[in-house]
Amino acid sequence: MVENGEKYIAEITGISSDGNGVGTVDGFTVFVPYTVAGDTVEIEVTKVKSHYALSRLVRIITPSKDRITPECGLYPRCGGCGLLHMNYNAQREAKKGFIEAALRRIGGFKELLCDEFISPATPVRYRNKCIYQMGKSENGLHISGFFANGSHDVVPVSDCLISPEINSDINAAVTEYSNEYNIDAKSLFIRHARATGEIMVMLSIGGNRPPEREELIRKLLAVSDKIVSVYIGTNNGNRLIYGKPEITDMLCGIRFNISPESFYQINPYMTEMLYNKALEYAEITKNDIVLDIYCGIGTISLAAAKRARRVTGIEIVKQAVADAEKNARRNGISNAEFFADSAENAVPRLIESGMKPDVVILDPPRRGSDEATLRAIVTAAPKRIVYVSCNPATLARDAKYLAANGYTPARCAGADMFPGTVHVETVLAMMRIQ
Ligand code: SAH
Repeated sequence: MVENGEKYIAEITGISSDGNGVGTVDGFTVFVPYTVAGDTVEIEVTKVKSHYALSRLVRIITPSKDRITPECGLYPRCGGCGLLHMNYNAQREAKKGFIEAALRRIGGFKELLCDEFISPATPVRYRNKCIYQMGKSENGLHISGFFANGSHDVVPVSDCLISPEINSDINAAVTEYSNEYNIDAKSLFIRHARATGEIMVMLSIGGNRPPEREELIRKLLAVSDKIVSVYIGTNNGNRLIYGKPEITDMLCGIRFNISPESFYQINPYMTEMLYNKALEYAEITKNDIVLDIYCGIGTISLAAAKRARRVTGIEIVKQAVADAEKNARRNGISNAEFFADSAENAVPRLIESGMKPDVVILDPPRRGSDEATLRAIVTAAPKRIVYVSCNPATLARDAKYLAANGYTPARCAGADMFPGTVHVETVLAMMRIQ
């Protein structure tokens, strides 16, 4: 047993699914943020529960061989990343462990492992969308940066290592503009299209006061002529002040036009790897009817449509469905249809009305799918279900349901979409038992 407010020496032996080091003090379990298996550390206990205690890292006595000094000077103050104190291989192993532990503990799959773990060649500079908060420093200067972990204080950011380098210059231009014209902006949104290099910038100012637009545009264009779309965000909507309303990107050979409001995956290189893995596991053939549930702007659906007879996408956000339909037309894809409805309404209705999908792909948000949707899927009895998930715990829960209703896991891949953070993506293929 340990006591609140007391200091102890702990050996760290593992990592919890939220990224905290797990260790023991005299056999009692303690969670220690920003530690890694193999560390010996001094901790201060902050909360004692019946079976474990939470604590704060006081100092590292002996560092683990997997511990590194993060290259980012803001870590862990900014709160965006959680694993930068571990070398990249240890991050990968930790994430693979999150998936396998969830499948074992929550899903009850005793022997299901990740057959493969896909990750980028370099785990930095991957984000295609960044939102910086604008604020003021103590001496009254306009600054841009990120909210400090758990607060609304803006920590100035000169360079974020998971974002493109040019963002620093864009931030510098915008803060210079804010200081010159005393613009109390709220946030700065920067989006890159990897395939074309096009950049979209949006400065949100909240109120309606028209800022000195020409000056903003001039300063931005001085940074790069790849900035082809500039918006001002106000309380009355987003106004295009320069260039094109959308930028163009390519994913899996399909063209996507992206507006500031569009949902779009933020790590383009890994997104393509992830979708290709999902399509590989789906083993779609020319005669197959495919149902893509939680389809967003139709990225997976349209890539699947090229291999299938017909694809139906279900998505709750109307604007995303409108984007999906537009993207289908632009790419000359005519065998994909989309419904703006919740999965729990649409899927049972489609199946009752006689739809017989050969393959079901689902990519739900973090809370996972639900029983009405899953029940309808198993009633339709597709030969394969490919579940793409950003939360191993809800994936394991839903896979348990599918396993109890006629499906068996066939292949499982982890994917590191967001290196440096505690997030991990999983693709699980389940086959119908004959
Ligand atoms: N497959 C897409 C989107 C995945 S994100 C892609 O890779 O880009 C999950 C999507 O599920 C989001 O677009 C979200 O709007 C949608 N969603 C959330 N709840 C839903 C529900 N109950 N029914 C249908 N779609 C839902």
